[in-house]
Amino acid sequence: MAHLMGQMMEMPLMISSLIKHAARHSADTEIVSKRTEGDIHRYTYKDCELRARKLAQAFARLGCEAGDRVGTLAWNGYRHLEIYYAASGSALVCHTINPRLFPEQIVWIVEDAKDRVLCFDLTFLPLVEKIAPMLKSVKHFVLMTDRAHMPAASSLKGLLCYDELVEAENGNYAWPEFDESTASSICYTSGTTGNPKGAVYSHRSTLLHAYASALPDALGCSAADTILPVVPMFHVNAWGLPYSAALVGAKLVMPGPHLDGKSLHELFENEKVTFSAGVPTVWLGLINYVKQNDLKFSTFKRTVIGGSACPPSMLRTLQDEFGVEVIHAWGMTEMSPLGTLAKLKGKHVSLSKEAKERLQFTQGRVVYGVDMLILDDDNKPLPWDGKASGNLVVRGPWVIASYFQRDESPLVKVDGLDWFPTGDVATIDADGFMQITDRSKDVIKSGGEWISSIDLENIAMAHPAVHEAAAIACRHPKWDERPLLVVVKKPGAELSREELLGFFEGRIAKWQIPDDVAFVSEIPHTATGKIQKLKLRETFKDHQLPG
Ligand code: ADP
Repeated sequence: MAHLMGQMMEMPLMISSLIKHAARHSADTEIVSKRTEGDIHRYTYKDCELRARKLAQAFARLGCEAGDRVGTLAWNGYRHLEIYYAASGSALVCHTINPRLFPEQIVWIVEDAKDRVLCFDLTFLPLVEKIAPMLKSVKHFVLMTDRAHMPAASSLKGLLCYDELVEAENGNYAWPEFDESTASSICYTSGTTGNPKGAVYSHRSTLLHAYASALPDALGCSAADTILPVVPMFHVNAWGLPYSAALVGAKLVMPGPHLDGKSLHELFENEKVTFSAGVPTVWLGLINYVKQNDLKFSTFKRTVIGGSACPPSMLRTLQDEFGVEVIHAWGMTEMSPLGTLAKLKGKHVSLSKEAKERLQFTQGRVVYGVDMLILDDDNKPLPWDGKASGNLVVRGPWVIASYFQRDESPLVKVDGLDWFPTGDVATIDADGFMQITDRSKDVIKSGGEWISSIDLENIAMAHPAVHEAAAIACRHPKWDERPLLVVVKKPGAELSREELLGFFEGRIAKWQIPDDVAFVSEIPHTATGKIQKLKLRETFKDHQLPG
């Protein structure tokens, strides 16, 4: 039987519609950027959209054709935002590259994506000059600055000036409409094991993600907000904020390369920022700076923390001492990235402060558009009782179905449906609050039982003398593996192994208390600011546990 069809306008979901909407309906709303050049740049959504149109013309003049990739090595700033909209909006593909990766990895990624144009901030000129001979696919190198800041000489032949390219065009350009499933952007996973893999987003997936992430139980973005994405635009598209800010017409504040506590605090205060988002490590720096200098936040009300587990001590400090609501969130590159957020339900309103906090410490509930399951090793769904822990799988229109240029499917079948295995191990409670215990490759298996490294880290981080902590598995002759805690002390703080291990008593089952503590001056982080467990395990592979 033929279905009766709806009789609504057919309008493909286009990324350009976001910036068009912002330019028409939030024309004078500001986008403020702290530039690599050092100064503050201000303009509006209207200005941004016009420059994005000119940039789309410039890309076409450079010979770019539909589907070509435009790579970026850039901080959060207005030019980067223009590239987001100009590239995707003109059917090119915006490929944000994490500049903190090793140069060899960057070369590999640019070549794998076959970027035709590479746009980069002044900061990365020396890097690009070094790797350019290896970048066979790149036809045009564009330095994201004005004429005055162009280098007198560069080994990059035909180096183009971004502002000149834009200013040479007339803006007489209409955003094209095309199939909403067309690729809009690519992000590569960091590839802790093996080579990085590309997640290819579409206009449709990006728009659906932008709608859902702006909801009150997600990021909760509004036209009354001033949003400062600390999370870089090269880390899963700054978690979609460049899109959801335009969708709601929120003021955007871009920190550029200035991510230290002092610069961030100044920007938060001067621009009256209400909302932010970032990984726990950046908040460590900002909180320390604000505390040490006895400062506060006058307008900052909410922040999303994700990318790795938000330590409960950090959540409490921000909420109790600074009055900033923390929204703990979980996601991944393969999920555009939003999956779950720890927002309470109506039935939780009357809970005690501690009980509410316990829910906030979890990674939270799915947003509409994502569904999840936890599976046992035979891919059988496990109960949502807050106890059973299993492999977390997800599905939804902004979850990848395959990786760029890879044939093998990453998906698993459960009851006839395809699910994406996240590589995370989690529990889910009856209200749908999901809690990650570990990445499957980071779990500590002691005598057949699992010990959550996140639980151990959260306890250690609550100790006043601890700056940062990582729990890793260490070989043990009897138990296979036992936990070792690697700790960076706060500057000037006194702390012994015995005192720290004593701090675990009563906070966790006795058999889960780490066997040993290694004090170090620094814990290695990945290019997205996560603890590099692989490297730590390597460093401590011959560590002798006491007893
Ligand atoms: P990478 O950092 O490896 O490039 P992602 O940013 O996509 O890639 O990392 C996704 C992973 O980060 C998740 O699978 C999970 O292990 C971890 N993660 C993200 N958010 C959280 C969180 N709130 N708590 C614990 N782990 C998290």
